[in-house]
Amino acid sequence: MTRPTRAVINWSNLRHNYELARQAGAGRAYAVIKANGYGHGLVSCARALSSADGFAVACVDEAMTLREAGIQRKVVVLQGAYSAEEWTLASANNIQLVVHHADQLEQRAQAKLTEPVGVWLKINSGMNRVGFRPQQADEVIATLAADDKLDLRYVMTHFASADDENSPQFAEQLALMTSREWPVPLSLSNSAAVFTRKEINGELVAEGVRRPGICLYGSSPLNYRTAAELGLKTVMTLESQVISSHCVPAGENVGYGADWRAQRDTRVGVITVGYGDGYPRHAPAGTPVLVDGIECPLIGRVSMDMITVDLTDHPTASVGSHAELWGDNLSVDRIARLCGTIAYELFCQLTPRVKRVAR
Ligand code: PLP
Repeated sequence: MTRPTRAVINWSNLRHNYELARQAGAGRAYAVIKANGYGHGLVSCARALSSADGFAVACVDEAMTLREAGIQRKVVVLQGAYSAEEWTLASANNIQLVVHHADQLEQRAQAKLTEPVGVWLKINSGMNRVGFRPQQADEVIATLAADDKLDLRYVMTHFASADDENSPQFAEQLALMTSREWPVPLSLSNSAAVFTRKEINGELVAEGVRRPGICLYGSSPLNYRTAAELGLKTVMTLESQVISSHCVPAGENVGYGADWRAQRDTRVGVITVGYGDGYPRHAPAGTPVLVDGIECPLIGRVSMDMITVDLTDHPTASVGSHAELWGDNLSVDRIARLCGTIAYELFCQLTPRVKRVAR
């Protein structure tokens, strides 16, 4: 008997969502599977998307994990290399690197590259996180061109506000990227841009590359449209079980800090999932949990290994009842919103204790 708390992953829905992003326009779509495939499993995601145009990961370690698992498709490292050793690994393993800072090129100068490294030049068009300023671009492009072991493939940028219809920032960032000619195709869109900015879905030229992430996992990148409205399907269902139930008289408290008080005689159900699994500790009382398909409100604080729910209005629920924390019948975006966070975080903070099992 193993613990019933698990993340059931629907791989065919992951493929469906990827195809939606791929078919959103001309050009290619690299599936963003960094951070352990947004918590779904790095190698498993890559295997499930075995015909993806390519993959994007955050760091060379993640790219190496893919290569060591025998995955040979194109892969780009979004944060690039930070040491000569990483440059060498990239060269030996056909890993493409984003270059966004001069220090990275200094590290490249220390490395002996056996094979040419595909490079994506990142421009800071307004997000002000990483990237060269547009006015530095020509100099960097010349440096890259002079290096016979570097092969410039794309020029990219990352949008800060593609999910906000009314933000002028998206237009400003796009204008910066399109106000000049580039020697190679562009890579612009994240998930939000894939669904809202059809005009750039070919990345302005047919050879461009989109970089969809969160939409692949069935979460809406837009807070004004649900995943279902966008045609996205649920990939992860986090499920568990009721392991205890008992009655608490009105006036008594439940859980740490005693900050939830029963207003009526309450039948409390205990579910074996907690922040030790990645269920958000700050989930407020009232957050729905589906117990045998019926919404029951969370009561009391989330503990490391348990949560408590109010089963008073669900008389048939008992020990052994199935609990869905989010997934097929309870949108992860709804839970994230109630917890003041985003689905990205809920997915990523799922701990290794939660088994990922295939649907
Ligand atoms: N491109 C870059 C550079 C990113 O950092 C990310 C995610 O953080 C993505 C694409 C994918 O973004 P999203 O998950 O919003 O589609």
